[in-house]
Amino acid sequence: MQSPRTLDFESYRNGTLPALIDPFGRTISYLRVSVTDRCDFRCVYCMAENMTFLPKANLLTLEELDRLCSAFVAKGVRKLRLSGGEPLVRRGIMTLVESLSRHLTSGALDELTLTTNGSQLTKYADELKAKGVKRINVSLDTLDPNKFRAITRWGELDKVLAGIDAAQAAGLHVKINAVALKGVNEDELASLVEWAHGRGMDITIIEVMPLGDIGEERLDQYLPLSIVRARLGERFTLDEIDYQTGGPARYTRVQETGGRLGFITPMTHNFCESCNRVRVTCTGTLYMCLGQNDAADLRTPLRQSEANDLLYRAIDDAIARKPKGHDFIIDRRHRRPALSRHMSVTGG
Ligand code: SAM
Ligand code: SF4
Repeated sequence: MQSPRTLDFESYRNGTLPALIDPFGRTISYLRVSVTDRCDFRCVYCMAENMTFLPKANLLTLEELDRLCSAFVAKGVRKLRLSGGEPLVRRGIMTLVESLSRHLTSGALDELTLTTNGSQLTKYADELKAKGVKRINVSLDTLDPNKFRAITRWGELDKVLAGIDAAQAAGLHVKINAVALKGVNEDELASLVEWAHGRGMDITIIEVMPLGDIGEERLDQYLPLSIVRARLGERFTLDEIDYQTGGPARYTRVQETGGRLGFITPMTHNFCESCNRVRVTCTGTLYMCLGQNDAADLRTPLRQSEANDLLYRAIDDAIARKPKGHDFIIDRRHRRPALSRHMSVTGG
């Protein structure tokens, strides 16, 4: 006899399980999953040094995460990104990667990928590749060991660089994500671009977002990418290109290096019109928009029933509320973040 979950996939293939289309006609095909809120770093723009993490009992188990992701895949999600916190510090994470890779094999999923700080890659790069992961994003804001330590508080640059070596040696395509920070790495971004391109890696520069109370002054960190781009434009020739990865980055080709350089500008640009993604936290809360507070609890329907009917209904109800766009603002009068949750909760 077929299990209820096998039937879900059958009905999707038969066209009876409706795909996820929001009120603005956008098809949801990309799910980012935060598998843990914990991390072995404490990046200054992401976390306070003395973070209080969720009690372990609140987290979805790996089996529940698998069921949740698989429900989204059954409803048409084609790309899954594991994030966190640091996804590779979640105990047993490779079991989840292994089980999710069955959707790659079946053809239901185009891509299984992750965003990592790179600290555990020497351990996991080969296994990730063997389980069907092709591309990963590694976050790295500086190549200066002292600055690296100052930004990440707990991280070691050497370990991350060794992790990137291991990933490339394993045959994974690595993209570098660097957050632009005023007075910290702004003078280094051009050399970071050259370094990444010299190693055959794309690089995306991210504007710092006002998420979570991190005990630092947001206005002190904020560096508009319009400025970064103009400065990089003095050093390099940047050609606009029509390259899409399903994410929010706008890409250019750097003539001098031949490499791709992306910009993610949530504060100064609106990329919401083409938003195809939603996020789920490690407790099973679905955020329909990174920049809004509206959320849906998927843990309750997940735990209420063995079959997925309640879960599907909760997902459908939530997607019907996906907002048109976000509204990030740094509250200049009160110097407070626009949203109180941390990036490590929704996984970026
Ligand atoms: N730990 C992993 C890592 O660092 O890649 C995955 C999770 S981390 C929250 C995902 C991405 O969000 C990283 O590239 C990080 O630099 C970025 N990030 C964290 N806080 C941010 C903020 N306030 N503004 C912009 N980007 C942020
Ligand atoms: Fe950890 Fe990533 Fe946040 Fe840095 S950005 S503290 S590595 S979750």
